[in-house]
Amino acid sequence: MSNKDLDGIMCVKHPYRPAKAFCAICGKPYCEADLTKIGNEYVCYDCLRALVKKYGKEPTVQFKSITLPVLFTALVFSLLTVYFVFAHIEFLPKLGEDLKSPEARIFIRDLIIALFFGIEVLLILLTNKNAFVLGIFLSLWIMLNFLTNPVMDLPELTTEYIVFRIILPILGILGLMLSKKNLVR
Ligand SMILES: [Zn+2]
Ligand SMILES: [Zn+2]
Repeated sequence: MSNKDLDGIMCVKHPYRPAKAFCAICGKPYCEADLTKIGNEYVCYDCLRALVKKYGKEPTVQFKSITLPVLFTALVFSLLTVYFVFAHIEFLPKLGEDLKSPEARIFIRDLIIALFFGIEVLLILLTNKNAFVLGIFLSLWIMLNFLTNPVMDLPELTTEYIVFRIILPILGILGLMLSKKNLVR
């Protein structure tokens, strides 16, 4: 129906006012006060509200994915990051003296490992989906690292070793499993 057919038709909400147009969605006649123009069509406010309710809501993702397991996993990998920064901190002076000394190399190696764990923390907090694979890899790697030493001796089980090489990596893997569905981006 075109708006020329409106002669004598009154607004359904305000029967004393002549209708200006038919709503493009519900087809009822409305006066100017009840309509809004979308492109070339008039739509009544009731239909507009219904539309906004149906489609207008943006999917809310912002920080919804940072759940308790995600925070817990980030904490575990933060502890491991700190551990590797300080694991051979006594070799730090060697960096200034002799960059090629075995001690300096060990310190640099640990810093690079710490960097990877730091990146993992960042990826977890960004709920990036790559955090899962990298985190599992890093956890397994520090747990099974002794296999790479040529004699394949079982390491000495000090408290430090048990905490940072066994317990925390296991907690890290468990945390990643629990957070997997939240690591989406
Ligand atoms: Zn309508
Ligand atoms: Zn009206």
